[in-house]
Amino acid sequence: MRDKIRALQNQSSRLEPSPDQRREMADLTWASTESMFARAATARTYDPDPGRQGLDASLITEDPVPLEALLREFDEEVDSAGIRLTTGGHLGYIPGGGVYPAALGDYLAACSNRYSGVAFACPGAAEMEHALVRWMCNLAGYPKQAGGDLTSGGSAATLSALVAARDAHGIDHETIPQACLYLTDQAHHCIGSALHVAGLSAVQRRIVPMDSRHRMDTTFLRRLVESDRASGRKPWLVIGSAGTTDTGAVDTAGQLADICSEYGLWFHLDAAYGGFFLLCEEGRAVLGEVQRADSIVMDPHKGLGLPFGSGAVLVRNRRHLADSYRYYADYMQDAIRSERDEDAPYSPADYSLELSRHFRGPRMWLPLRLFGLKPFRAALAEKMWLARYFHREVGKLPGFEAGPSPDLSIATFRYLPRDGDAESSNRRLLKAIHDDGQVFITSTRLNGQFTLRMAALSFRTHLEHIDYLLELLINKAAALN
Ligand SMILES: *Cc1c(COP(=O)(O)O)cnc(C)c1O
Repeated sequence: MRDKIRALQNQSSRLEPSPDQRREMADLTWASTESMFARAATARTYDPDPGRQGLDASLITEDPVPLEALLREFDEEVDSAGIRLTTGGHLGYIPGGGVYPAALGDYLAACSNRYSGVAFACPGAAEMEHALVRWMCNLAGYPKQAGGDLTSGGSAATLSALVAARDAHGIDHETIPQACLYLTDQAHHCIGSALHVAGLSAVQRRIVPMDSRHRMDTTFLRRLVESDRASGRKPWLVIGSAGTTDTGAVDTAGQLADICSEYGLWFHLDAAYGGFFLLCEEGRAVLGEVQRADSIVMDPHKGLGLPFGSGAVLVRNRRHLADSYRYYADYMQDAIRSERDEDAPYSPADYSLELSRHFRGPRMWLPLRLFGLKPFRAALAEKMWLARYFHREVGKLPGFEAGPSPDLSIATFRYLPRDGDAESSNRRLLKAIHDDGQVFITSTRLNGQFTLRMAALSFRTHLEHIDYLLELLINKAAALN
C-alpha cells in the first residue's frame, strides 16, 4: 500500500512546481501580459471576428501543454474577439476597469489561498474585507451599525439586499400577494431576477412614471403608495437608482427616503454604476442623501476600476443581513462566529449566502492603498467632465440631438437625418462605428425611440477617446447620405 501511495505521490507532486519553475512561469506570464498591454495601444476596442479556432472540452486531455502555447492560446482565442478592456475606447454598456494592482491582489489571494469566510480561519483576511466594507459604508455616510458584504457583482449584491428587505418586512407566502414594490422601467433587469430567485415574483410591481430626465417622479410614487394602502395592500419596497444603466439618471434619494420613512417602506438604492462617484465632489453633489437608503449596491468592478468579479451590498443596519444569512452547522462548532456573540469579529459568511468563496479583499485593498484615493477621485471626476464635454460637443454637431444633460458619465444622443427614417439612420451609424471598432458605443430605446449612448467609466478613457468618437460621428454621419 505504501508503494502504491508513493507512486501516486510521484505523479501528483507535479502539481507543486519548484521555485525555478514558478519563476519561469511567472516571467512568461508577465511577458505575455506586457505584450497584451502594448498591443492595446493600437488595437481596436471592438472586433467581432478576428478569426479564432474556438475552445472546447477536447482540449483538456492527459497531456501537459507548454505554458508558451497556452499563453498564445489565451491571446488568440480570448484577448481577441469582442470588446477589449485594455484600451480606453470602451464607451458601451457600463465599461469595466482592470487596474493592474488588482491582478496582483488576486495573485496574492490565490497563492496564499487564505479562507476569508470566517474570521477564525484567517483573522487578517476577514478583517481586510471588513475594513473594505466599512470604508464603503463610510463613503455612503452610513452609521456605525451598518455593514455589508463583498460579492461577485451587482446582481448577487442585489439579491442579498432584496432578501434582507423581504425578511426585515416579514414578506412571506401569506403576504406576498399584497406586497407592493415601486420602481421605474429604467430599473436594472437584475432586480427582476433577484425577485424571482428570492421567491418574490408574485409581488405587485408598480412602475412609477419618470420625469423628462428619466428620474422617478416622486409625486406619482406617493400617489401609488397611498392608493395601494387605501385598497388594503402592503407597500413594501422602493427601488431607487443612483445612476441607471441606460442613461445614468440619478433619482432624488432624499425625496424617496422621505416617502419611505413616512409610509414605513424599505428603501433600496441601486448604485452599482453610480455609487463610487461619491468619491468626487461633482458626484456627491448629484447623488444626494444616499445614506438614507436601507440598502445600497455598489460595484467596485465598475466605478473603482477593479476587474470583473467585485460587487458590494451595504445595509444601514447589518443585523438585517445577518438575520437573513447567519446559519450554524455542527461541523463548524470550533469556529467562533458572530451568531453566538455579538462582539465576535466580522465573518463574511455571516452576511452572505456564500461559504467558500473567492478571497475578494486583496484585489481591492492593494490598489486602494498602493495608489491612495486621489487618482480614483480624479478618474471619476474626469469621467463626469468627459460626459459633460461630449454632451456639449455632440449637441453642436450638425444633424445631432443631445439627450438630457448627463447626471453622471453617460450621455445619450441621436442623429436626425434631414429626410428619411431616424431609426434606420441611427442603426446604420452605430454599425459604421462598430465596423471602425476603434471606440465602442451602444444603443438603447428611450421613450420608444432608438437612441445612441456613450458611457465613460473606464480609468483608461480620456479626452482623446471622446474626441475620436466625435470625429467618427461627423465622418460616419456624412457618409450615411
Ligand atoms: C451593472 C449594473 C447592475 C448589475 O451588476 P453586475 O455587477 O453586472 O451584476 C445593477 N444595476 C445597475 C444600475 C448596473 O449598472
